[in-house]
Amino acid sequence: MNNSKIRLRLAPSPTGFLHIGNLRTALFSYLIAKKLGAQFILRIEDTDQKREVEGAVESLVKILDWVGINFDEGPHLGGDYGPYIQSERLSLYQKYAEELIEKGEAYYCFCTAERLDKMRAEQEAQKMAPRYDRACHDLSLEEARKKIAAGEKYVIRQKMPLSGEVKVYDEMRGEIVFKAAELDDQVLLKSDGFPTYQLASVVDDHLMEITHVTRGAEWLPSYPKNILLYQSFGWTAPKFFHFPLILNKGGGKLSKRQGDVFVEDYRSKGYLPEAIINFCALLGWHPDGDKETLNFSEIIENFSIKNLGISPAVFDLDKLDFYNGYYIRQKNDQELTKLCLPYLEKYVEKINDHEFKIIACEEVVSLIYLEQVIALSKDRMKKLSDIVELSEFFFKEKLDYEASILVWKKSTAPEAKNKLQELKQLLENTEKENWSKLKLEEIIVSYIKEKEGKNGDYLWPLRVALTGREASPSPFEVAEVLGKKESLARIEQAIIKL
Ligand code: GLU
Repeated sequence: MNNSKIRLRLAPSPTGFLHIGNLRTALFSYLIAKKLGAQFILRIEDTDQKREVEGAVESLVKILDWVGINFDEGPHLGGDYGPYIQSERLSLYQKYAEELIEKGEAYYCFCTAERLDKMRAEQEAQKMAPRYDRACHDLSLEEARKKIAAGEKYVIRQKMPLSGEVKVYDEMRGEIVFKAAELDDQVLLKSDGFPTYQLASVVDDHLMEITHVTRGAEWLPSYPKNILLYQSFGWTAPKFFHFPLILNKGGGKLSKRQGDVFVEDYRSKGYLPEAIINFCALLGWHPDGDKETLNFSEIIENFSIKNLGISPAVFDLDKLDFYNGYYIRQKNDQELTKLCLPYLEKYVEKINDHEFKIIACEEVVSLIYLEQVIALSKDRMKKLSDIVELSEFFFKEKLDYEASILVWKKSTAPEAKNKLQELKQLLENTEKENWSKLKLEEIIVSYIKEKEGKNGDYLWPLRVALTGREASPSPFEVAEVLGKKESLARIEQAIIKL
């Protein structure tokens, strides 16, 4: 059991799916926790009730577990600092908000939504930054309490200093100075009794004895307000880290419009956790040395806080594809087959652990056969779902393709037909023992030499006959896996087409 006094937390809002940016925050937080030998805590920030989704906590824990990020405390694990879900801590926030009122650090505000909308519209028309105009700032506590007793709705706002500077220290950027006059009188407690992020995160970080707050740079504008709140309570603030923003290639925000932004989407397309972790680690961390492919344990081993950068990281999908291809090729054929089979359900049905049925022709094949099929596509796969497109010709009873693609470059259809007829005869006479890719290559290539023919004139139509496609593994590899009978049947089909 880790009893460290150093405590870090991940504080996601349960929105249903894990944004890739939040995974990067989770990963960096986890890595810093590992480096410092800290406790790592999961806290669910669900005080924005509109955004909450059923089952979201379970799916969050599941996807983080899938990539290999786990916790010491959290709603699913318990711990001494619970509850770990903010909606179960509501009375706490109310109590602390009242404490600030008593101290004169916060005030009740009775402005209606209509009034605030009008105020904002006016500010916008005058090109002013939207900010609460402090209409209720000077209301006496007595007057406010009367209004409350009369049933008026209210929020509680934080009193910001009216002038001067607020200096904060970010562990990655050093000192940052904000002008107090630019800070909005932030709502701390909403009219429905729910706290805002500003109040709930500070109260919880304090009560949960969090020593290091790690979050995305989009929270930098909140930072001075957080620090002022710590001061108002008389609490010591934790250390803060703000990880760099993640932008798309065009320099904009990562959004659904440019493609997938949720880790679950990448998982279902067949991205491996190793690739996603490797990719996310390099979104802002710059390891010493030039090794780019690092598995999770290498990342943990090499990670150092000083190598975290602050300039925005660029989300480059080609890079993710590169890592994924790399980790796919690290798998052995057995592992890869297990990973690919769920994508092939349309074509292959499991009978038992060793036997499968090819649905189109009802033929029973062995697991070893499927491993051979999948191994042939290993080099071309960028993601596991590519296996469908790359290998479906093995699972179709009749290949559907245009006869014209059987014809190689300057050759003609009758010529392609002749070549296939010659090869058919040659292969019919090939003994079963010689039906391996190496032997087949030897036999076919020496036959072409003997005939003083061109490789392309023979091998192109042969490959298309076996696969029905213009791009595929070599005809020798495919023929070996298909076997003699099926290979000859496919050549016969091609001859008929021509
Ligand atoms: N609930 C915030 C979010 O999901 C967390 C920010 C923080 O880590 O403090 O973005």
